[in-house]
Amino acid sequence: MRPTPGIEQRRMLRTAIPGPRSAELHARKSAAVSAGVSTGLPVYVERAGGGILVDVDGNQLIDFGSGIAVTTVGNAAPRVVERVQEQVADFTHTCFMVTPYAEYVEVAEALNELTPGDHEKRSALFNSGAEAVENAVKIARSYSGRPAIVAFDHAYHGRTNLTMALTAKNMPYKHRFGPFANEVYRVPMAYPYRWPTGPDHCADEAFELFVSQLHAQVGEENTAAVIIEPIQGEGGFIVPPPGYLKRVASWCRENDILLIADEIQTGFCRTGDWFASEHERIVPDLITTAKGIAGGLPLAAVTGRAEVMDAVHGGGLGGTYGGNPVACAAALGAIETMKSDDLARRARDIEAMVVPRLRRLADKHSEIGDVRGRGAMLAIELVTGPGPAKTPDPALTAKINAACHTAGLVTLTAGTYGNVLRFLPPLSIPDDLLVEGLDILEQAFTESA
Ligand SMILES: *Cc1c(COP(=O)(O)O)cnc(C)c1O
Repeated sequence: MRPTPGIEQRRMLRTAIPGPRSAELHARKSAAVSAGVSTGLPVYVERAGGGILVDVDGNQLIDFGSGIAVTTVGNAAPRVVERVQEQVADFTHTCFMVTPYAEYVEVAEALNELTPGDHEKRSALFNSGAEAVENAVKIARSYSGRPAIVAFDHAYHGRTNLTMALTAKNMPYKHRFGPFANEVYRVPMAYPYRWPTGPDHCADEAFELFVSQLHAQVGEENTAAVIIEPIQGEGGFIVPPPGYLKRVASWCRENDILLIADEIQTGFCRTGDWFASEHERIVPDLITTAKGIAGGLPLAAVTGRAEVMDAVHGGGLGGTYGGNPVACAAALGAIETMKSDDLARRARDIEAMVVPRLRRLADKHSEIGDVRGRGAMLAIELVTGPGPAKTPDPALTAKINAACHTAGLVTLTAGTYGNVLRFLPPLSIPDDLLVEGLDILEQAFTESA
């Protein structure tokens, strides 16, 4: 990997985590920032790059989070920085709907080319993942003239009103924030580890339930779109069994229902392909992207079949900031980096290094019920010991997570039951930091489990 200028790629602890200067800032945070905005690990970051976050106390932490799968190309990645610096000096905003600019068009062209399928496509740019999902729903409804949207158990699609309706988990995303948007329906997810009759029956039975519930409770002719994350993110890195997505996609096509793949977390090389849909060889009608798209700048997109995307009346889509030129420049720098450094391959290499380690850890610690994920989107699900009960253990998960933080490894949790530890290292992380991070995780299990 390319060395990151300026930041030594080494974990280094100078103070307790968090240190005194972080603690001071955190006290100010509590007095200035809404309590509704909480932080997983209150170390205040000053600089970051490669696989390292440097905090205000001079500690260097290993990053297994990428700011939730955003800095896939690395923090302050050289080509992103270069493009952003040039763009910000040229102009910062005109509003694409008022007087447009080339960078927006170039990002749309890149998305149309990179996303699955060689049919004609169009894209529209937005600011956040939730906004992209909302617009995918608007587009699907406008094209089909139908109201209903079908989402899955354990789904996460965002925190705005419509996307809260699509998101499955109550706490913390929906609690006390209702009422939610209507015409959203939920069906079971193919979750192999927790499938009642066992993983071998999961694909068939989950597909049957999907079809029968959609038919009986919604009606095909009322359904504009089915929305699914090819690998569920916040829901716990749930990987549907092979073939399941293909069957859902084919069935949607047969019934004139649009398939929206929410690739906001899985997209842009994270899972070892440009998009996770490719692994299952599905070609969604619409794809939502954000997170990894622009190396940390806020940008999101809907990309889809030209006839679907063009069905919307002029002026029906947009927003003041959507496709901001600086964010577009960052996306072009990020995409260039993914191509030239073959980051999809890097994600597959990370999987090949990390998964065997996690499996060995699971052999030693029966609390690890499942190891799953793909590419550099990997997770372990924690349960209370061996046996068929598979009782989620969110307390142990929180304990291991905290032990990693104390040792200078930034990890994240996930899962409907709060019992999943997820690993999303930047693809710019050097191998030795990856290994050191896994050593810390192992140590945390030895001490806590
Ligand atoms: C993060 C995420 C979103 C929401 O994106 P925001 O930019 O936080 O609005 C939607 N869908 C998936 C799959 C996500 O991971």
